[in-house]
Amino acid sequence: MRLQAVRGFKDWLPEDFVKYEYLIDKARFWCKLFNFKEIKIPILEKTELFVRSIGEVTDIVQKETYSFEDRNKEWLTLRPEATAGICRMLIEHGLYVRPKPLKFFTIGPMFRHERPQKGRLREFYQIDLEVFSDLNPYLEAEVLALALNILKSPLSEVSERLNDLYTLELNTLGCPECRPKYREVLLSFLKQHKEGLCETCKGRIDRNPLRVLDCKNEGCRQVVSESPLITEFLCEACKAHFLELREALQFLGIEYSLNPRLVRGLDYYVRTIFEVKAKGLGAQDTVCAGGRYDYLLKELGGPELPAIGFAIGLERWAISVFGDEEKQGLLDPKSLANKLCPELYLIFLGKPLIKQGIILSQKLREKGIRCEVTYEEKSLKAQLKNADKLGAKHVLLLGEKEWEEKKVVFRDLRQSTQKEIGFENLEDLADKVFKEIKGWI
Ligand code: ATP
Ligand code: MG
Repeated sequence: MRLQAVRGFKDWLPEDFVKYEYLIDKARFWCKLFNFKEIKIPILEKTELFVRSIGEVTDIVQKETYSFEDRNKEWLTLRPEATAGICRMLIEHGLYVRPKPLKFFTIGPMFRHERPQKGRLREFYQIDLEVFSDLNPYLEAEVLALALNILKSPLSEVSERLNDLYTLELNTLGCPECRPKYREVLLSFLKQHKEGLCETCKGRIDRNPLRVLDCKNEGCRQVVSESPLITEFLCEACKAHFLELREALQFLGIEYSLNPRLVRGLDYYVRTIFEVKAKGLGAQDTVCAGGRYDYLLKELGGPELPAIGFAIGLERWAISVFGDEEKQGLLDPKSLANKLCPELYLIFLGKPLIKQGIILSQKLREKGIRCEVTYEEKSLKAQLKNADKLGAKHVLLLGEKEWEEKKVVFRDLRQSTQKEIGFENLEDLADKVFKEIKGWI
């Protein structure tokens, strides 16, 4: 049998890695500017953590988790998201007593047993950010600003077009004061229109009627387009909070659209929720999603401490920037891969020069030059061809005769030029080659 990766689990080939690394670097840069501290939480947690946090009747916990009993008969789950684990960490280590705001971020894989398709994997990466502090719409605005900074900040040559690529959608889900009333009204509306709903939604209206608002099924969308809206049921406090957030967004110059039917798949959200969508991604167009979860920490046995967070799906984000097999993106990933090609490819003609070649390559690496050496005894032509295939920018040729005359040949493969470099000793040669590569000569 041919060995294959598990369905929905993807390898990152070098050409994939450069894309993801590029985006992760950008996210990490912005997180640090906003004073977020990077943390790491385990990939595996007790199943109970997710049942208690995400909610027993959510799609994620009912259908999507990878859960199993381990050798000690303990139920464990591969994390489907990071928020619950971060809350557990906060409680377990008593971090909630530290000065506020507490701002954390983590980057790593999440696991959900969903049907794999474009932008939907079973192992996918998230860049996840969480803030724990007093309830404050200005802090929310800051979190939204950060999400957009990460996604929209200049990517070298394509900065302007990026700006139009992403749109922020905003909603409020109300609080334990006002949401139950809305839930009731929505439930009776959905019951009246049950025949128009898909089978999944028919089954979940009692358990989780708000989730129906999020169903992608055409019939459900039709029904939902006439449904009552949460905005009509908000209590005074929630209304005022939402208004203040919108004001803050306005003075920050952040554009958004209100989507009163936006909901999230997890139970713990209250008040502000949001998504950032990318144009051209098809059905899976949400690259970033999040919201407030003021009571989660308390429900998990911690103090009452409001919180807000979001997660960016790395693979979807990458498709929105770099495109995929079907569609060209804004940035060509080849331009990133090029940056990783060897700066120097060292060829020595004749065995006696191996020693010098090895020492020279080591000296150049220590100076910061990405250097590849060929140890194969092939013809010069074959070696040059190989240098080209590897994308090397320069070639250094050590020939026996020239070496005796204290000379080497330096070729610039991109400019198709070549010159001789004379030298005193290996140290001197390394120094001169370094300067040639940097263009200082
Ligand atoms: P969706 O409605 O697309 O299933 P979700 O509401 O389940 O998303 P969240 O739990 O809020 O998603 O996760 C935040 C982000 O993580 C999503 O916006 C998406 O970019 C990414 N994401 C979620 N599930 C997957 C998946 N199975 N494969 C790839 N990325 C995912
Ligand atoms: Mg989902």
